[in-house]
Amino acid sequence: MAEQDRIIIVGAGPVGCITALALVQKGVPVLQLEALAETPTAHRAATTHASTLDLLDGVGMSAPVIEQSVIARHFQYRYRETNEVFAEFDFARLEGETNHPYAVQLEQHKTVAIALEMLSAHPHYTLHRLHEAVGIEQTVDHVKLTTQTPDGSQHDWHGRYVIACDGGRSFVRKSQGIDFPGFTWEERFMIVATLFDFEKADNYRYRNYIADPDRWCSVFKIPGPDGKGMWRNLFPVTENDPEDVVMSDNWIRARYDECFPYARDTEIVHRNLYTVHQRVAASFRKGRVMLAGDSAHINNPLGGMGMNSGIADGLNLAEKMVAVWRGEAGEELFDRYDRQRRPLAQKYVQAQSIQNKETLQAKDAAKATVRFEELRKTAEDPKRHKAFLMNSSLINMVREAAAID
Ligand SMILES: Cc1cc2nc3c(=O)[nH]c(=O)nc-3n(C[C@H](O)[C@H](O)[C@H](O)COP(=O)(O)OP(=O)(O)OC[C@H]3O[C@@H](n4cnc5c(N)ncnc54)[C@H](O)[C@@H]3O)c2cc1C
Repeated sequence: MAEQDRIIIVGAGPVGCITALALVQKGVPVLQLEALAETPTAHRAATTHASTLDLLDGVGMSAPVIEQSVIARHFQYRYRETNEVFAEFDFARLEGETNHPYAVQLEQHKTVAIALEMLSAHPHYTLHRLHEAVGIEQTVDHVKLTTQTPDGSQHDWHGRYVIACDGGRSFVRKSQGIDFPGFTWEERFMIVATLFDFEKADNYRYRNYIADPDRWCSVFKIPGPDGKGMWRNLFPVTENDPEDVVMSDNWIRARYDECFPYARDTEIVHRNLYTVHQRVAASFRKGRVMLAGDSAHINNPLGGMGMNSGIADGLNLAEKMVAVWRGEAGEELFDRYDRQRRPLAQKYVQAQSIQNKETLQAKDAAKATVRFEELRKTAEDPKRHKAFLMNSSLINMVREAAAID
């Protein structure tokens, strides 16, 4: 095999690793290059939707993911002021549409670990850590990618194509001059983890959204380090307070006082502050370079769509790479990847995540009443309930993509 006869994947997050797995399982050699020594364990994605579990069936990952996860059949919306549950959704209504009529909650680093474990057994898979992509050149028949290691030395790698799975700040996307239009939310998001049991204390489901014009928040259960359960809260940081103030116990306890006073003295086991963007790349392909996951689109975490849609990108692209690799299709198939995934990143992921945030924080009382009433009616009507879940679980997104020529 010539040195360049392989696919180079930049980044070993969930999208890069699952895309690599789909490729090597079909006999396509993969070289994966990752800047970090280890997968970060900071709290990021947890919700994995039905559509993604169906896709993960295809690479043999759904069973181990489900086995380690918390199964979240329901999710609910409450008012912060009154604590009234005004809408509750049940994924069991998706019976017949998916092999997995539920969402699961699993920390994304555990999903990555499952993929890496499966990859480690493949002879056509190579991973080099502590290699940060710093240069890229496309030629007529291959791509040269340059990485830098912590000692400052540079290394050149050759491959037929490069898949950029290097996250929101993607070096690869920037190196190709691909625009990343969109916007950044003014407020930051604070994520807090605790062992306090919100189900026991106040009948919370494992995924919950709490509406309030200023102090909206969310409550989610994840397995936690020992698999016995941990809870996460997400709070908006509307003040311009410096990071050390927002990260303090005092700031977090003030949010607990407002939203869950019974939990105020719980031990905070993890906290992290994020800036949140809504952006979609102007193209998912430039010649021999394709973008997938956060390198192609980023969004706020409400609804749990970033990683899910990224995995759908990666598996869609892997299928096309395999066909081109085997000579069953020409490279124009990669344009179909762009046509299938880019508009739908706007239509589903951007639109829904923005709407989810606007619903929770609706400031105008009249508008808020309309939105909440709409959600209540949707949850109460069996047909609308199911239609809502078909969108929020991204089943419609995956089906619609497949139908685009
Ligand atoms: C608080 C929070 C909660 C979230 N919750 C959810 C959720 O419930 N469900 C959901 O679907 N999504 C969620 N998301 C979004 C999700 O975390 C991302 O969409 C997901 O991580 C994207 O995966 P990725 O593999 O594309 O990128 P990343 O996970 O960012 O991985 C990129 C990898 O590339 C590496 N890298 C970067 N630059 C280089 C370089 N130059 N060279 C080599 N390697 C490089 C990085 O080190 C990293 O390992 C959440 C995000 C946040 C912040």
